[in-house]
Amino acid sequence: MNEGQRTVVIVGGGITGLTAAYYLQKAIREQRLPLTCKLVEATHRLGGKVQTVVRDGFVIERGPDSFLARKTSAFRLVKEVGLEHEIVHNATGKSYILVNGKLYPIPGGAVMGIPTRIAPFLTTGLFSPAGKLRAALDFVLPPVKADGDMPLGRFFRRRLGDEVVDNLIEPLLSGIYAGDIDEMSLMATFPQFFQLEQKYGSLVRGARRTTPKEQKERKGAFQTLKTGLQSLVDEVEKRLEPGSVIKGVRVERIVRPDSTYRLQLSTGEVWEADSVIVTTPHHVVPDMFADYPFFASFRSVPLTSVATVALAFPAKAIRQDIDGTGFVVSRRSDYTMTACTWTHKKWPHTAPPGKALLRGYVGRPGDEEIVDQSDDEIVRVVLDDLNKVMNIVGQPEFAVISRWKRAMPQYTVGHCERLAYIKRQMAAALPGVFLAGSSYEGLGLPDCIDQGEKAVHDVLEYLRPAAVERASNMYSNVH
Ligand SMILES: Cc1cc2nc3c(=O)[nH]c(=O)nc-3n(C[C@H](O)[C@H](O)[C@H](O)COP(=O)(O)OP(=O)(O)OC[C@H]3O[C@@H](n4cnc5c(N)ncnc54)[C@H](O)[C@@H]3O)c2cc1C
Repeated sequence: MNEGQRTVVIVGGGITGLTAAYYLQKAIREQRLPLTCKLVEATHRLGGKVQTVVRDGFVIERGPDSFLARKTSAFRLVKEVGLEHEIVHNATGKSYILVNGKLYPIPGGAVMGIPTRIAPFLTTGLFSPAGKLRAALDFVLPPVKADGDMPLGRFFRRRLGDEVVDNLIEPLLSGIYAGDIDEMSLMATFPQFFQLEQKYGSLVRGARRTTPKEQKERKGAFQTLKTGLQSLVDEVEKRLEPGSVIKGVRVERIVRPDSTYRLQLSTGEVWEADSVIVTTPHHVVPDMFADYPFFASFRSVPLTSVATVALAFPAKAIRQDIDGTGFVVSRRSDYTMTACTWTHKKWPHTAPPGKALLRGYVGRPGDEEIVDQSDDEIVRVVLDDLNKVMNIVGQPEFAVISRWKRAMPQYTVGHCERLAYIKRQMAAALPGVFLAGSSYEGLGLPDCIDQGEKAVHDVLEYLRPAAVERASNMYSNVH
């Protein structure tokens, strides 16, 4: 290491780690900071859950397929690496909830299941008259007493009743978090709904007042890249400093014998670092920092296993189609699938002309065994489920099954307090070490990118006084 040079190591090369490496190296170059930034990734590829398969003209996402356009950090990163011309918005179309074996269009104006228009809720067959009346209590019930966190399910059930929650809100939210709404933390997932309730005395009133018209009409709220999200990973990787990325190497332990950190790698090597950004999922952190018992609570934070099941068909195999882009499945249905996207309709670039691409999802809390079944069995189960609402003849031309074991971190009740406690302990015992990524402050791609950027800011803040001082010393030494 050069005299005066400081080292930052980023652990994990998913989208969070990549973002952190990109922006930190950019700052080092542009501000001529006396810092070196290295990234260590356990597997032999970068991107983590972002992974695209391009086959026979199909563009198949194994993990995330898009990002929320409203949160701008993903677009910014896309632009940074010159891919903005590849951006596409999702085609809008009906999406459905499958309840008791029947598909119901999601009522117009529902924002995460909360009505912002009344008529579609009054006319939908998704809820019984009693369920609708119960939901109307939202207009008169007093706001919940603000005494900390609570399960998301309890919050919504109290305001809108069980039927609206089980038939609409739960399937929509599970589609994002693969979580159990009755275990998930209100404050870590949707604190804005709590604030709406407190401010407007009613979720519906609050959502109606604050939802922009564009969102009420559900216009293409998502974006992706025509070339696949993997192309973002590839373009970011190309821009990282040569030699700064090490793949196929795990960080096993991080200790702090003195003012610098020592990272023990799976190769037996030991690296020194002045600052570390840890972007791995939370469950590996307690072992990595075994000398620091305050990470122990991460051990009990669950992760759900899921699998995506991409099925490629000739378009004519779909004899009875549905006018829409996909559905999510309520637990009140005897289905193994949790959701399905008609990918060729939602994202027309993903299938060549004359072909159809369906993407099913399996695995949810309490029903994760399916993920361990053979590919053939998973395809059979998904096709059986699909054929209850469509008519698909024959077998797919090919299937791409992607298993994501223990992949979806569950933000259970108390998540924010747990994290705040750990961060306080880290600030005292592990100054210059920062956590970022899907286990911590949001699991959508833009949330992960935001956290990667924030970690860079934190590292520079932590190192800057010393770095600037050294830089000016170096300057005065040579002049
Ligand atoms: C099936 C699925 C669908 C999804 N759909 C969407 C979607 O459509 N839109 C959206 O916004 N989000 C979606 N998400 C969520 C989003 O993909 C993830 O939250 C995000 O990609 C996580 O990025 P990350 O960098 O934080 O973590 P990861 O991608 O998990 O990366 C962490 C990296 O750390 C590495 N690592 C672990 N341990 C070590 C170690 N000891 N040493 C070194 N490296 C280590 C891992 O190998 C991995 O590469 C989806 C997720 C899944 C699973």
